[in-house]
Amino acid sequence: MVATSEAGIGGTDPRAAPTSKPRAEALATDKPPRRNDPVPQPLPFLLDFYPQEDPKFTRIAAFFDGLRKGWLTTTKCDADGTLSWPPRVACPTCRGEKLTWVELPRRGKLYAFSAVLGGAPLGMEQDVPFVVGLIDLEGSPLRIFSRIANVRYEDCCIGMEVVLETFDLPDGRIFYRFRPPA
Ligand SMILES: [Zn+2]
Repeated sequence: MVATSEAGIGGTDPRAAPTSKPRAEALATDKPPRRNDPVPQPLPFLLDFYPQEDPKFTRIAAFFDGLRKGWLTTTKCDADGTLSWPPRVACPTCRGEKLTWVELPRRGKLYAFSAVLGGAPLGMEQDVPFVVGLIDLEGSPLRIFSRIANVRYEDCCIGMEVVLETFDLPDGRIFYRFRPPA
């Protein structure tokens, strides 16, 4: 039987210094090379190594083509009619890959909302605080997540009407969000 102590299972203080020295062979003896030049400025708006807008990398590039035309689109399964959000390359119900792009309503109502006060995604740090919400699209079974623009958290309410808007990212790409109607 193994003897236990205060520092045994469940009793270890994570702040305590390790009692045994790490094995020397497990540690690199030299430091990794360090760049002296600054990271490219400005930082990339999104860390997206395989751009979803590019049909070379994904089969949902048509979503962004639709956005450029002002359409919010998603995929619908030809076999069983499953409407997905976000767009899929295979049906989550039957795993079929025969999907059709369909346009979604550009209008909806806030089902729930919250404010981002910190820890914003890369490129959105300057926008804090901002509102995000779940939107019930008008006449659609879909409830989608989006940033809610042009409104303060204090002025939002459940059931508030919102409409789609598209916007250009600094790197030339396009994305969408919702906002109260003008
Ligand atoms: Zn299906």
